Amino acid sequence: MIKDIPTVAEFDSAAKAQFDFAWDIAISFLLSLEEARGYAGVEEEDEKAFWEAARQRVMTALIVTQQGVELALKGRIVAVSPFLLIAGSPSDWPKDSTGAGISFSDFRAIDAQDLIKVHDAVHEEKLNSEFSVLFDSLRKLRNKAMHTVDRNINVSVKEVLVNIIEFHKNLYGDASWVETRRDFLYNSAAARVFFDTEHVEALVVREFSAVFKFLEPAQALKFFNVNKRSRLYICPECKHEADRFDFFETRYAVLRPNEPNSESLFCFVCDSLHSVVREDCCQGGCPGNVLSLEYDICCTCGEDQ
Ligand SMILES: [Zn+2]
Ligand SMILES: [Zn+2]
Repeated sequence: MIKDIPTVAEFDSAAKAQFDFAWDIAISFLLSLEEARGYAGVEEEDEKAFWEAARQRVMTALIVTQQGVELALKGRIVAVSPFLLIAGSPSDWPKDSTGAGISFSDFRAIDAQDLIKVHDAVHEEKLNSEFSVLFDSLRKLRNKAMHTVDRNINVSVKEVLVNIIEFHKNLYGDASWVETRRDFLYNSAAARVFFDTEHVEALVVREFSAVFKFLEPAQALKFFNVNKRSRLYICPECKHEADRFDFFETRYAVLRPNEPNSESLFCFVCDSLHSVVREDCCQGGCPGNVLSLEYDICCTCGEDQ
Protein backbone atom coordinates (compact mmCIF):
# COMPACT_ATOMS: atom_id res chain seq x y z
CA MET A 1 0.00 0.00 0.00
CA ILE A 2 1.18 3.53 -0.73
CA LYS A 3 0.74 5.89 2.20
CA ASP A 4 1.30 9.63 2.84
CA ILE A 5 -0.15 10.54 -0.53
CA PRO A 6 0.23 14.30 -1.03
CA THR A 7 -2.71 16.56 -1.81
CA VAL A 8 -3.16 19.48 -4.18
CA ALA A 9 -3.44 21.86 -1.22
CA GLU A 10 -0.15 20.65 0.21
CA PHE A 11 1.63 21.20 -3.10
CA ASP A 12 0.05 24.62 -3.53
CA SER A 13 1.00 25.85 -0.10
CA ALA A 14 4.54 24.49 -0.52
CA ALA A 15 4.82 26.20 -3.91
CA LYS A 16 3.64 29.53 -2.55
CA ALA A 17 5.99 29.23 0.41
CA GLN A 18 8.90 28.88 -2.02
CA PHE A 19 7.76 31.95 -3.93
CA ASP A 20 7.48 33.85 -0.68
CA PHE A 21 10.96 32.79 0.43
CA ALA A 22 12.51 33.77 -2.90
CA TRP A 23 10.63 37.07 -2.85
CA ASP A 24 11.86 37.79 0.66
CA ILE A 25 15.48 37.41 -0.42
CA ALA A 26 15.14 39.38 -3.63
CA ILE A 27 13.04 42.26 -2.33
CA SER A 28 15.37 42.79 0.64
CA PHE A 29 18.17 43.84 -1.73
CA LEU A 30 15.94 46.16 -3.67
CA LEU A 31 14.72 47.83 -0.47
CA SER A 32 18.15 48.18 1.14
CA LEU A 33 19.52 49.79 -1.97
CA GLU A 34 16.56 52.14 -2.09
CA GLU A 35 17.08 53.00 1.57
CA ALA A 36 20.78 53.69 1.07
CA ARG A 37 19.95 55.92 -1.88
CA GLY A 38 17.51 57.82 0.30
CA TYR A 39 20.09 58.47 3.01
CA ALA A 40 23.19 59.50 1.22
CA GLY A 41 23.00 58.50 -2.42
CA VAL A 42 24.91 55.53 -3.84
CA GLU A 43 27.90 55.79 -6.18
CA GLU A 44 27.83 53.67 -9.30
CA GLU A 45 30.89 51.76 -8.16
CA ASP A 46 29.35 50.97 -4.79
CA GLU A 47 26.17 49.78 -6.42
CA LYS A 48 28.22 47.38 -8.53
CA ALA A 49 29.90 46.05 -5.40
CA PHE A 50 26.50 45.76 -3.74
CA TRP A 51 25.16 43.52 -6.50
CA GLU A 52 28.34 41.50 -6.61
CA ALA A 53 28.01 40.77 -2.90
CA ALA A 54 24.34 39.93 -3.36
CA ARG A 55 24.97 37.65 -6.34
CA GLN A 56 24.89 34.25 -4.64
CA ARG A 57 21.74 35.01 -2.71
CA VAL A 58 19.96 36.31 -5.79
CA MET A 59 20.91 33.06 -7.56
CA THR A 60 19.52 31.10 -4.65
CA ALA A 61 16.29 33.06 -4.88
CA LEU A 62 16.02 32.06 -8.52
CA ILE A 63 16.60 28.39 -7.70
CA VAL A 64 13.93 28.53 -5.02
CA THR A 65 11.50 30.20 -7.45
CA GLN A 66 12.02 27.38 -9.90
CA GLN A 67 11.37 24.81 -7.18
CA GLY A 68 8.14 26.65 -6.41
CA VAL A 69 7.02 26.42 -10.03
CA GLU A 70 7.77 22.68 -10.07
CA LEU A 71 5.75 22.14 -6.91
CA ALA A 72 2.82 24.08 -8.35
CA LEU A 73 2.90 21.99 -11.53
CA LYS A 74 3.02 18.83 -9.44
CA GLY A 75 -0.05 20.05 -7.58
CA ARG A 76 -1.92 20.40 -10.85
CA ILE A 77 -0.93 16.90 -11.87
CA VAL A 78 -1.94 15.53 -8.46
CA ALA A 79 -5.39 17.03 -9.05
CA VAL A 80 -5.82 14.36 -11.73
CA SER A 81 -3.91 11.58 -9.99
CA PRO A 82 -0.95 11.64 -7.57
CA PHE A 83 0.35 8.42 -9.11
CA LEU A 84 1.24 10.26 -12.30
CA LEU A 85 4.18 11.69 -10.38
CA ILE A 86 5.77 8.29 -9.83
CA ALA A 87 8.59 7.53 -12.26
CA GLY A 88 10.18 4.28 -13.34
CA SER A 89 8.88 0.80 -13.90
CA PRO A 90 7.27 -1.25 -11.09
CA SER A 91 10.37 -3.42 -10.92
CA ASP A 92 12.28 -0.38 -9.63
CA TRP A 93 9.71 0.59 -7.03
CA PRO A 94 10.68 0.39 -3.36
CA LYS A 95 9.57 -2.75 -1.50
CA ASP A 96 7.16 -2.82 1.39
CA SER A 97 9.43 -4.96 3.57
CA THR A 98 7.69 -4.26 6.89
CA GLY A 99 4.13 -4.48 5.63
CA ALA A 100 3.39 -1.01 6.99
CA GLY A 101 3.06 0.46 3.51
CA ILE A 102 5.45 2.51 1.40
CA SER A 103 5.58 6.26 1.79
CA PHE A 104 4.79 8.17 -1.39
CA SER A 105 8.01 10.13 -1.00
CA ASP A 106 10.08 6.91 -1.26
CA PHE A 107 9.14 6.59 -4.91
CA ARG A 108 11.28 8.29 -7.50
CA ALA A 109 9.46 11.30 -8.92
CA ILE A 110 9.28 12.15 -12.61
CA ASP A 111 11.85 14.64 -13.90
CA ALA A 112 11.15 18.35 -13.78
CA GLN A 113 11.59 18.57 -17.54
CA ASP A 114 8.65 16.19 -18.01
CA LEU A 115 6.20 18.07 -15.80
CA ILE A 116 4.66 20.15 -18.58
CA LYS A 117 4.40 17.11 -20.85
CA VAL A 118 2.59 15.11 -18.17
CA HIS A 119 0.39 18.05 -17.23
CA ASP A 120 -0.68 18.61 -20.83
CA ALA A 121 -1.28 14.91 -21.41
CA VAL A 122 -3.82 14.62 -18.61
CA HIS A 123 -5.46 18.06 -18.51
CA GLU A 124 -8.09 19.15 -20.93
CA GLU A 125 -6.69 22.67 -20.81
CA LYS A 126 -3.01 22.71 -21.68
CA LEU A 127 -0.50 25.21 -20.29
CA ASN A 128 -0.10 28.01 -22.80
CA SER A 129 3.00 28.28 -24.94
CA GLU A 130 4.10 31.41 -23.09
CA PHE A 131 4.23 29.37 -19.90
CA SER A 132 6.31 26.62 -21.50
CA VAL A 133 8.82 29.15 -22.79
CA LEU A 134 9.04 30.86 -19.40
CA PHE A 135 9.38 27.55 -17.59
CA ASP A 136 12.06 26.32 -19.93
CA SER A 137 14.18 29.44 -19.65
CA LEU A 138 13.85 29.46 -15.87
CA ARG A 139 14.79 25.78 -15.70
CA LYS A 140 17.86 26.27 -17.88
CA LEU A 141 19.02 29.28 -15.91
CA ARG A 142 18.50 27.40 -12.69
CA ASN A 143 20.49 24.41 -13.97
CA LYS A 144 23.34 26.69 -14.91
CA ALA A 145 23.22 28.32 -11.50
CA MET A 146 23.19 24.92 -9.77
CA HIS A 147 25.93 23.21 -11.72
CA THR A 148 28.52 25.82 -12.48
CA VAL A 149 30.33 28.56 -10.69
CA ASP A 150 30.53 30.62 -13.86
CA ARG A 151 30.81 34.22 -12.79
CA ASN A 152 29.26 35.35 -16.03
CA ILE A 153 25.89 33.97 -15.10
CA ASN A 154 24.05 36.88 -13.81
CA VAL A 155 20.53 37.06 -12.59
CA SER A 156 19.12 40.39 -11.58
CA VAL A 157 16.91 40.81 -8.59
CA LYS A 158 14.29 42.34 -10.88
CA GLU A 159 14.27 39.19 -13.01
CA VAL A 160 13.61 37.09 -9.92
CA LEU A 161 10.77 39.34 -8.75
CA VAL A 162 9.16 39.49 -12.19
CA ASN A 163 9.43 35.71 -12.51
CA ILE A 164 7.65 35.22 -9.20
CA ILE A 165 4.79 37.57 -10.10
CA GLU A 166 4.48 36.13 -13.59
CA PHE A 167 4.50 32.47 -12.58
CA HIS A 168 2.13 33.11 -9.71
CA LYS A 169 -0.27 34.76 -12.12
CA ASN A 170 0.04 31.97 -14.64
CA LEU A 171 -0.41 29.24 -12.06
CA TYR A 172 -2.98 30.76 -9.74
CA GLY A 173 -4.97 32.80 -12.19
CA ASP A 174 -6.68 35.77 -10.69
CA ALA A 175 -5.33 35.38 -7.16
CA SER A 176 -2.95 38.30 -6.94
CA TRP A 177 0.63 37.92 -5.76
CA VAL A 178 0.11 41.02 -3.59
CA GLU A 179 -2.56 39.15 -1.65
CA THR A 180 -0.46 36.00 -1.27
CA ARG A 181 2.56 37.97 -0.10
CA ARG A 182 0.40 39.92 2.36
CA ASP A 183 -0.93 36.65 3.83
CA PHE A 184 2.59 35.34 4.28
CA LEU A 185 3.67 38.51 6.07
CA TYR A 186 0.68 38.34 8.40
CA ASN A 187 1.52 34.72 9.19
CA SER A 188 5.27 35.12 9.39
CA ALA A 189 7.34 33.66 12.20
CA ALA A 190 8.10 37.15 13.55
CA ALA A 191 4.39 37.97 13.76
CA ARG A 192 3.96 35.00 16.11
CA VAL A 193 6.40 36.24 18.72
CA PHE A 194 5.87 39.98 18.55
CA PHE A 195 2.06 39.64 18.60
CA ASP A 196 2.03 42.54 16.31
CA THR A 197 1.15 42.86 12.67
CA GLU A 198 0.63 46.61 12.62
CA HIS A 199 3.57 47.18 10.33
CA VAL A 200 2.52 44.59 7.74
CA GLU A 201 0.40 46.89 5.56
CA ALA A 202 3.20 49.45 5.42
CA LEU A 203 5.66 46.75 4.44
CA VAL A 204 3.39 45.53 1.65
CA VAL A 205 3.07 49.12 0.42
CA ARG A 206 6.84 49.60 0.53
CA GLU A 207 7.60 46.40 -1.36
CA PHE A 208 5.06 46.90 -4.12
CA SER A 209 5.76 50.58 -4.50
CA ALA A 210 9.41 49.66 -5.15
CA VAL A 211 8.39 46.96 -7.61
CA PHE A 212 5.89 49.19 -9.40
CA LYS A 213 8.63 51.74 -10.03
CA PHE A 214 10.79 49.41 -12.08
CA LEU A 215 8.08 47.50 -13.99
CA GLU A 216 7.71 48.20 -17.68
CA PRO A 217 4.28 49.69 -18.53
CA ALA A 218 3.30 46.44 -20.27
CA GLN A 219 4.22 44.42 -17.18
CA ALA A 220 2.32 46.71 -14.80
CA LEU A 221 -0.74 46.39 -17.00
CA LYS A 222 -0.48 42.62 -17.27
CA PHE A 223 0.34 41.90 -13.63
CA PHE A 224 -1.61 44.57 -11.78
CA ASN A 225 -4.08 45.97 -14.28
CA VAL A 226 -2.58 49.46 -13.95
CA ASN A 227 -1.69 51.59 -16.94
CA LYS A 228 1.53 53.37 -15.98
CA ARG A 229 1.02 55.79 -18.84
CA SER A 230 -2.19 57.20 -17.44
CA ARG A 231 -2.05 59.80 -14.67
CA LEU A 232 -0.96 58.26 -11.40
CA TYR A 233 -2.40 59.35 -8.05
CA ILE A 234 -1.43 58.77 -4.46
CA CYS A 235 -3.47 55.95 -2.92
CA PRO A 236 -4.92 57.55 0.25
CA GLU A 237 -5.19 54.26 2.13
CA CYS A 238 -1.66 53.11 1.32
CA LYS A 239 -0.35 56.58 2.20
CA HIS A 240 -2.12 56.40 5.54
CA GLU A 241 -0.47 53.03 6.30
CA ALA A 242 2.95 54.09 5.06
CA ASP A 243 2.95 57.43 6.95
CA ARG A 244 2.57 55.69 10.29
CA PHE A 245 6.07 54.26 9.90
CA ASP A 246 8.05 56.09 7.32
CA PHE A 247 7.49 58.13 4.25
CA PHE A 248 7.47 56.46 0.92
CA GLU A 249 5.71 57.27 -2.26
CA THR A 250 2.41 55.54 -2.91
CA ARG A 251 1.73 57.05 -6.31
CA TYR A 252 0.32 54.14 -8.24
CA ALA A 253 -3.46 54.56 -8.09
CA VAL A 254 -5.44 55.31 -11.25
CA LEU A 255 -8.89 56.72 -11.94
CA ARG A 256 -11.31 53.98 -12.77
CA PRO A 257 -12.95 54.47 -15.16
CA ASN A 258 -10.27 56.79 -16.51
CA GLU A 259 -12.60 59.73 -17.16
CA PRO A 260 -12.62 63.42 -16.20
CA ASN A 261 -15.55 63.02 -13.81
CA SER A 262 -14.59 59.63 -12.44
CA GLU A 263 -15.17 59.28 -8.70
CA SER A 264 -13.08 56.26 -7.85
CA LEU A 265 -9.40 55.50 -7.64
CA PHE A 266 -8.22 51.95 -8.14
CA CYS A 267 -5.24 50.79 -6.13
CA PHE A 268 -3.64 47.44 -6.96
CA VAL A 269 -1.94 47.16 -3.56
CA CYS A 270 -5.19 47.54 -1.56
CA ASP A 271 -6.96 45.85 -4.44
CA SER A 272 -9.90 48.19 -3.98
CA LEU A 273 -11.63 51.28 -5.27
CA HIS A 274 -11.42 54.43 -3.16
CA SER A 275 -14.07 57.14 -3.42
CA VAL A 276 -12.87 60.57 -4.40
CA VAL A 277 -14.56 63.94 -4.93
CA ARG A 278 -13.66 66.07 -7.91
CA GLU A 279 -12.93 69.38 -6.26
CA ASP A 280 -9.88 71.62 -6.48
CA CYS A 281 -7.07 71.06 -4.02
CA CYS A 282 -6.81 73.83 -1.39
CA GLN A 283 -3.02 74.03 -1.72
CA GLY A 284 -1.91 76.89 -3.90
CA GLY A 285 -0.05 75.73 -6.96
CA CYS A 286 -1.45 72.19 -6.91
CA PRO A 287 -3.51 71.52 -10.03
CA GLY A 288 -5.13 68.47 -8.41
CA ASN A 289 -8.88 67.90 -8.35
CA VAL A 290 -9.00 64.38 -6.97
CA LEU A 291 -9.61 64.48 -3.21
CA SER A 292 -10.07 61.60 -0.83
CA LEU A 293 -12.94 62.39 1.56
CA GLU A 294 -12.19 59.37 3.67
CA TYR A 295 -8.60 60.40 4.40
CA ASP A 296 -9.06 64.10 3.73
CA ILE A 297 -6.09 64.49 1.43
CA CYS A 298 -5.40 65.56 -2.11
CA CYS A 299 -4.40 62.49 -4.13
CA THR A 300 -2.21 64.60 -6.40
CA CYS A 301 0.06 66.37 -3.89
CA GLY A 302 -0.77 64.34 -0.78
CA GLU A 303 -1.51 67.42 1.38
CA ASP A 304 -4.30 67.58 3.94
CA GLN A 305 -7.51 69.29 2.89
ZN1 LIG B 1 -3.65 51.42 -1.83
ZN1 LIG C 1 -3.02 68.91 -4.01
